[in-house]
Amino acid sequence: MRILNRCPHCRTRATARSSRDMSLTFREVTFMCNNAECGHTYIVNMEFARTLSPSATPDLSLNLPMSPRVRERLAQQLELPI
Ligand SMILES: [Zn+2]
Repeated sequence: MRILNRCPHCRTRATARSSRDMSLTFREVTFMCNNAECGHTYIVNMEFARTLSPSATPDLSLNLPMSPRVRERLAQQLELPI
């Protein structure tokens, strides 16, 4: 999937040039503005936010937050207090 990002200066679409994994849940992505007159090159932080649907093969060393709706649904399915 291509990540759409717009240059914060001129609002032109920017293209991801490279990315670097800082951890399993945090990545730095370098973008370059497609407007030749602007030429802005910048880094965007991409960070895991929350789970919408649990993994069938979870990495148990990670403690990833779930969205409140998923937590409620799981608690109802397991008949646990929320
Ligand atoms: Zn720009």
